[in-house]
Amino acid sequence: MEPRQWHALATDRVLSELDSAMTGLSSDQAGIRLRSEGANRLPAPPKRSLTRLFLSQFHNVLIYVLLGSALITTLLGHVVDTTVILAVVVINAVIGLIQEHRAERALAAIQELLAPYATVLRDGGRCRVKVETLVPGDIVLLEAGDRIPADLRLLQSHGLSIQESMLTGESTAVEKHTDPVPAWMALAERGCMAFGGTLVVGGQGLGVVVATGIATEMGRISRLLAHVTPRTTPLVRQMNSFARWLTLIILMLAAAVMALGHFLWDYPFGELFTAVVGLSVAAIPEGLPAVLTITLALGAQAMARRNALVRHLPAIETLSSVSVICTDKTGTLTRNEMVATELVTVDERFTIDGVGYAPDGAIQGAAPIDLQASLRLRELAWVAVLCNDAALQHSDGIWRVEGDPMEGALLTLAARMGMSRPEAQRCWVRTDVLPFDAEHRYMATLHHDHERHARLFIKGAPERVLAMCSRVRTAEGGEAILEHAWWHAQVEQLAGRGLRVLALATRRVPVSQTVLSRADVEGGIILLGLVALMDPPRPEAVAAIAECRRAGIGVRMITGDHAATAAAIGQMIGLERTRRVITGAELETMSDDELSAAAMETDVFARTSPEHKLRLVMALQARGMTVAMTGDGVNDAPALKRADVGIAMGRKGSEAAREAADIVLADDNFASIVAAVREGRNVYDKIVRVIAWTLPTDAGEAATIVTALLFGMVLPVTPVQILWVNLITTVTLGLALAFESGETGAMQRPPRSSDAPLLGLAWLWHIGLVTALFLLGTFGIYAWAIERGHDIALARTMAMNTLIAMEISHLFFIRSIHDSAFSLRILRGTRALWVAIGIVVAAQCAMNWLPPVQAVFETRTIPLLDGMAILAVAVLLLLAVETERQLRRKFKTGRRDDTPPSDEQEAIR
Ligand code: ATP
Repeated sequence: MEPRQWHALATDRVLSELDSAMTGLSSDQAGIRLRSEGANRLPAPPKRSLTRLFLSQFHNVLIYVLLGSALITTLLGHVVDTTVILAVVVINAVIGLIQEHRAERALAAIQELLAPYATVLRDGGRCRVKVETLVPGDIVLLEAGDRIPADLRLLQSHGLSIQESMLTGESTAVEKHTDPVPAWMALAERGCMAFGGTLVVGGQGLGVVVATGIATEMGRISRLLAHVTPRTTPLVRQMNSFARWLTLIILMLAAAVMALGHFLWDYPFGELFTAVVGLSVAAIPEGLPAVLTITLALGAQAMARRNALVRHLPAIETLSSVSVICTDKTGTLTRNEMVATELVTVDERFTIDGVGYAPDGAIQGAAPIDLQASLRLRELAWVAVLCNDAALQHSDGIWRVEGDPMEGALLTLAARMGMSRPEAQRCWVRTDVLPFDAEHRYMATLHHDHERHARLFIKGAPERVLAMCSRVRTAEGGEAILEHAWWHAQVEQLAGRGLRVLALATRRVPVSQTVLSRADVEGGIILLGLVALMDPPRPEAVAAIAECRRAGIGVRMITGDHAATAAAIGQMIGLERTRRVITGAELETMSDDELSAAAMETDVFARTSPEHKLRLVMALQARGMTVAMTGDGVNDAPALKRADVGIAMGRKGSEAAREAADIVLADDNFASIVAAVREGRNVYDKIVRVIAWTLPTDAGEAATIVTALLFGMVLPVTPVQILWVNLITTVTLGLALAFESGETGAMQRPPRSSDAPLLGLAWLWHIGLVTALFLLGTFGIYAWAIERGHDIALARTMAMNTLIAMEISHLFFIRSIHDSAFSLRILRGTRALWVAIGIVVAAQCAMNWLPPVQAVFETRTIPLLDGMAILAVAVLLLLAVETERQLRRKFKTGRRDDTPPSDEQEAIR
C-alpha cells in the first residue's frame, strides 16, 4: 500500500487525521493504539536457534580431528576409546552451548537496559517513554542529540537540523521546517518530515508520529536492520587464533610421534594411534574459548549490576588498562539536583531557603518580595519560568524535574518568588527559541503578549550574558550603566564557593519580530541579575576518587562550568591539583605539545566545549595514557569515539552520545565508572588465570604421553584415561575460574600497560615449571607404585588420580595471583570451586571403586596408603610452586626499592 503523503498536508490536517492534538494523546489512547498498531520497532534479525547453536559447536578443527579419530578407533574395534572420544565431543558441545546461550542471554539483558527513550507529550504533560511504545498521533519533543524515534510530521522547528545520511546518503545536516511540500517530492526534500533513525544535530522541534516500526521509511528500506554487536574481543580473537596455531603444532607433533613410534620403535599401530589421539586431545585447549566467552559475559553482567552497561565487549579489556578518567562534573561528580540559593541584583541580595524542587520555601532579602511592585523581580521570574524547557511534576509527595535539573531549580525559584508557569504563559506566548547548547552557553526565547509587546528572555553563563549587556535593570524599573568589573567580582565570589552561576537578562523587541537569531542577542540587552545554584557533590564520588588514586588512575574534571565553580567542586571531591584550572579559551591558545604537558599536570578544565574534549583525549593519548572519557551531548560523539573507552550518560546523555560510547552509565555516576574499571581489572585477572591454569594442565597431560613414547616406556596413564582426565577437568575446574569473584587487590596496583603481553616471561616460566612438576608427579607416583609391587593397572590408576589431584592444587595456586595460596581466603574457596571439585571427586570415586567403570577404564581400587601418597604429591606441588613464588617475590622486593614494579611483575605477584 502506498503510504500517506503526510508531508503534503498542513499540520492541522495531519493532527486531525491522526486524531491527535498539540497537547498529545492520553495514556489510554496510546495504550489502545499500541495494541492495534504494534510496537514501534523493526523486526529483530532472526536469532540463532538452539539447534543451530548446538551444531555450531562442532564447527571447530579440534572436533573434526576428534571425530576423525573416533572413526579410526571404531575401525580398529576400540569401542571404549570411541565412546570416550565421542563423549568428549558431545560434552564439550553441550558445555559450549550452555555457556554461549548464557552469554547471549546476559548480553541481551544488557541490550534491553540500553533501550532508547523518547520525550513525548502524554496526558498534557511531557514524559519519557520507551521508543518501542510510541504510537501514531504521539507528539514527540526533539532536541540536539536525539535519534528520531519514528517517522514524524514536524509541528514546530526552532533551528532544527537533522542528519539524514543513513536514509538519503547526504552527509550534511538538513534544516527542517513545518510547511507542507508537494506530494511528489523525494524523501531528501521533505523538509517538514523527520524520519525514524536519523539524528538531530541542532535546534529543537516538535513532531507528531505518523508511522511506527515497519511502516516507517527505515522499515521500508531495510526490513531487517541487523544491529549486531561483536560478541568477541581482541583478546579472545587472539586466543582463538593462538588455539588454532597450537592445534596445528600439536597435530604436527602427533604425526611426528606417530611416524617415529611406528617406523623406529615398532609400536603396534592401534596402540600408538590411541596414544597419539590421547596426546592431541590432552594438549589442545578446547575448553578455553568457551571459558573466555563466559568470563567476559559474566564480567559484563557484573558491570551492569554496578550500573555500567557495556555496549562493546572489548571495552571490558580496555577498562582494565585505563590510566586516566576524564569526567564531566554536573551529574557525574555532583548529584545534578540543583537548588537556587542566592539571587543577586545590582543593589539587592536575596537568599533562598527551601529543600529540593518543592515550591514552598522562603526568600529573604532586605525587603520582602513583591512581584506586583517590582518590575525587576517580575522580569527575573519571567526569565526563570519562560526561558525554560523543563517541567516540575508532583507525584507520591515528591517533586521531580522532567528535563534539565537546573531549569527545574529555576521553576522552583520562580514559584518561591510567587510566579507560576501557567500565570507567566498566560501573559507571554513563546514565539521562538534559541535552545541552549554547550558551545554558546546561553538560551534565549522570544515572547509576545496580548497587548502587542514582544520581548527576549535570556539566561546563560555569566561571561556570555554580561558580554551582551551594557545596561542593568534598577530596583525602580529603570536602567543604569552596567559595571562589568563589579559583576565579574560577584560571579567569582559565588563561583568560588562551588555555586553554579547564571545570569538572567531581557530586552524589548519590535512586535513584528517573530523569528530569533543569534544576532538579536549580541547587544543592547539589559541585565536583570545573577542566580546562584548549589549542586552538591556526590559523596560516593569522593570515595571513588580516593580509590582511583590508590589504583594509580588519574582523574580529570572536564566541565562546561565556570573555572572557580569547577575548582571549588574539585576540591570538595578530593581532586589534588585544583589550584590551576585550564579554561577552554586557554586551551585554544596551546599547541598540541603544550596541551599534552598541561593535561598531565592539571586536574580541572573549565568552560570547555566538546571540541576541547577531543583535543584533550588526544593530548593524553600522546603521553601513552589509556583514556576513559565521559560525554552526553551530540557534539561529544567524536571524543567518545576517539577515547579508549567512551562512556555516555544514560540519564542525561543524548542518544547520539550513547551510540558513540562503549559503555553507558545507567546512573550517570562517577563511582560507577570506577566500579567498571575495577570489574574490568577483575575480568582481565580472571582471563590470565584461566589461561595460566589451562596451558600447564594440558601441557602436563600431553608431556606425560610424549615422554613415555619417546623413551619407549610403558604409558603411566592410558590414552583413554588421559581423554577422561581432560574431559572431566576442563569442563569443571577450568570453568570454576570463570565464576570466581574478583581478587580484593585489583584496585591496589597501578594500571597495566595496554601493550603488555597477556602472559609475560614470569608466566611462561611458571607454565614451564608446572608442566615439569606434573610430569615428575605422574611418573614419580607410577614408579613408586611399581616399586611397591603394584600391577601396571593399579599404578596407572594412581598416576591418573595424581594428575587430577595436582590439577586441583594448581587451581588453588592460580586463584591467588596477588596473594598466597595458603591464605584463608584462598583455601576457603568459592561455591563454584567446591561444586567443581565435588563433581571431579565424585567422578573419580566412581572411576576407582565402581566395577563396571573400572572395567571400561582398566582402573583398580586404590589402597588407603597409596591414596594418601597421591594427596601428598598434590600438596607438595602446591608447596613447591608457592615457595618458588615467595622466593621470587622476595628477590623482586629486594630489587624494587627505587623502581616501580612493572605490570608483568605485578601480575605474577
Ligand atoms: P559538565 O560539562 O560538567 O556537565 P555543565 O553542565 O556545567 O558541566 P554545560 O552544560 O556545558 O556544562 O554548561 C555550561 C554553562 O552553560 C553552565 O555553567 C551554565 O552557565 C550554562 N548553562 C547550562 N545549562 C544552561 C541552560 N539550560 N540554559 C542556559 N544556560 C545554561
